[in-house]
Amino acid sequence: MQFSDFGLERRLMTTVDHLGFTEPTEIQQQAIPAAMQGHDLIASSKTGSGKTLAFIIPALQRLSKNRALSKRDPRVVILTPTRELAKQVYAQLRLFTSNTQFKAVLVLGGENFNDQVKVLEKDPHFIVATPGRLADHLSQGHFYLNGLELLILDEADRMLDLGFAEQLSQINKAADHRKRQTLLFSATLDHAQVNDFAKELLNKPKRIAIGGAFTEHQDINKRFYLADNLDHKETLLQHFLNTETYQQAIIFTATRSDTERLARLLLEQDINAVALSGELNQSQRNQIMDGFSKGHHKILVTTDLASRGLDLVNVSLVINFDMPKHAEEFIHRIGRTGRAGSKGDAIAFVGPKDWLSFKNVEGLLEQTIRFDCIDGLKAKFKGLKPKKPKQKPTKPNAEKLVKATQATSKKSTKKIFHSAQDVGDMPIIKRKKPLSAQYIEDTDLDEVE
Ligand code: AMP
Repeated sequence: MQFSDFGLERRLMTTVDHLGFTEPTEIQQQAIPAAMQGHDLIASSKTGSGKTLAFIIPALQRLSKNRALSKRDPRVVILTPTRELAKQVYAQLRLFTSNTQFKAVLVLGGENFNDQVKVLEKDPHFIVATPGRLADHLSQGHFYLNGLELLILDEADRMLDLGFAEQLSQINKAADHRKRQTLLFSATLDHAQVNDFAKELLNKPKRIAIGGAFTEHQDINKRFYLADNLDHKETLLQHFLNTETYQQAIIFTATRSDTERLARLLLEQDINAVALSGELNQSQRNQIMDGFSKGHHKILVTTDLASRGLDLVNVSLVINFDMPKHAEEFIHRIGRTGRAGSKGDAIAFVGPKDWLSFKNVEGLLEQTIRFDCIDGLKAKFKGLKPKKPKQKPTKPNAEKLVKATQATSKKSTKKIFHSAQDVGDMPIIKRKKPLSAQYIEDTDLDEVE
């Protein structure tokens, strides 16, 4: 299939040609025609699979072909969970709107509210926004959604996880007319809240699931290394930064403070690294992301703030300094590399504190993961195993023991006794099966010797 098969409006097709895209990706092949036919969609697709154009193209096609329902109201609203992702969607949208009469604006939390009011007063056709700030403007009557034709929710699962359900409902209700079309994208369709939400927002949606959103990305080479502690992780990090070939790398840490600390450590070694965390204000965040995407920094050290959606073509190495708390974030993190068919490397350090997360990732990927190791940097830590449930010391009560032995020996002696040598003629106390490590707390784990 080719883009030319979609029957796209001329200028839209010219932009696709300029971008050098001829064949639509799988999600585009399915989502573009369905959306162009006017269907509501609920779609999941692998990270980096071309999802953004899967909604931008039908949106522009609809606007070019149909008359606006209102002269003043926005025609398309695109919502994303993070400001960084919104900026990236906006940048792709601008490639398509710059040669048209359509105006697109970006409305993000953390930026000047009054400047945004002025921008909204100019009656843009497209708004790309984070939900909280857009809902604030809506409450204050800075724009209306009676003429909205398309509501697009990108990474809907993450928006709900971040607690934006109320704002999404508010935006939905303000645009509640029968001509509205809704496209919902989510990393997974197995998300109870997304499904409930879809019932509220979507009208007879088509479901599109391309592979599993969590199926393995063939272009990413994953490697896992055991680590004893923080010092050991730092030594491993240095080793890989010195030995791997990469243009740019992203290092993911568990905490905000670690992003700063690691970036400082790398700078001290003359490695051009920068830290991005949610503690920074929006203009600092913008500056850092701009600098990184322009190649001013070789390494970005961040938390899961930057795990989703960001399309940074020169990132060919992702290092999980700590494993993520939620297993699906692992897929998003490593999806920062191996974008659009290019190859990437993803390395993960697994220490005692990462063990449960590691097991969850293993479960999600449905495979047994083997650890690699580096000569001279081998960990003593070998993993954790579920603790055996504590046995109450059993005081052999002579009378009970005799009764139990008599009762059971009538049924089947074999089941109860091994050889007399093994058990000294005592009944074996059957142990409960240990719980899978996945579901038990840290404190219930023993180190594997
Ligand atoms: P996304 O999943 O939307 O973040 O897109 C990931 C990357 O794939 C971006 O760099 C897009 O520009 C690129 N891309 C999108 N559609 C295509 C296509 N049909 N052919 C090749 N690359 C594409």
